[in-house]
Amino acid sequence: MTDTHSHLNDRQFAKDLEEVIRRAKEVGVRRINVVGYDLSSSQRAVEIADRYEGLYAVVGLHPYEAQRYSDSDLANVETLLSHPKVVAVGEIGLDYYRGPRDHKAQRALFRLQIDLARRHKKPVVLHVRDAYGDVLDVIRDFPDVLFVFHSFSGNEEDMAEILKWDNWYVSFSGMLTFLAHIRRAARISPRDRTFVETDAPYLSPVPMRGRRNEPAFVRYTLKRLSEIWKVDFEEAERITDSNAQEFFRYDMKRV
Ligand SMILES: [Zn+2]
Repeated sequence: MTDTHSHLNDRQFAKDLEEVIRRAKEVGVRRINVVGYDLSSSQRAVEIADRYEGLYAVVGLHPYEAQRYSDSDLANVETLLSHPKVVAVGEIGLDYYRGPRDHKAQRALFRLQIDLARRHKKPVVLHVRDAYGDVLDVIRDFPDVLFVFHSFSGNEEDMAEILKWDNWYVSFSGMLTFLAHIRRAARISPRDRTFVETDAPYLSPVPMRGRRNEPAFVRYTLKRLSEIWKVDFEEAERITDSNAQEFFRYDMKRV
């Protein structure tokens, strides 16, 4: 299994990180991405990835940063991209729900970082909240960059749009286990462009709702996905692992 999106860099894991990683490995989670959202969490993601086998980092500035980041933050993110265990730029995007009201500033930061990803030949992990249409408008301009809709929470119509673009991927979090409209969308999600994640410490899947989420729990989301797809667990695991490998290119020499 692959947990393509966790925040093991969150302070909620400061005390028992080793234990959390051990539990994940025990249940067969072989790869875990640790995702940043500002400069310091991105640096911490790289430190953690550097320390543990099977852990990788994703670095970038969340839309919350749109009105407070500096040019040097962006330059430092770019420096992190050359670390061999940094596999993507993220989580970046547009958040019109809780992000800064200056949507223009959000879009500017978003575009700058997609451009960074493109220059460094990295895929992009998208954070989208109440801004689906605007995100699509931006990413349509980058047909040569791979994008994943992290913790996909759209409906079938949204999924149908994603299906049209072969550089757009979908990742399901624990929300798949408790929201019916996401389950319906998952039925038609592209088998060659779908994978799973926890978004730990948030969004624990059923039956762990209300507890701190952790990478070992990704198996509940994968189990649910296998039921929706009507394949056995091992088949769903094989498919999503191979899609994650295709997207993040773990341990491959990059140009
Ligand atoms: Zn996240």
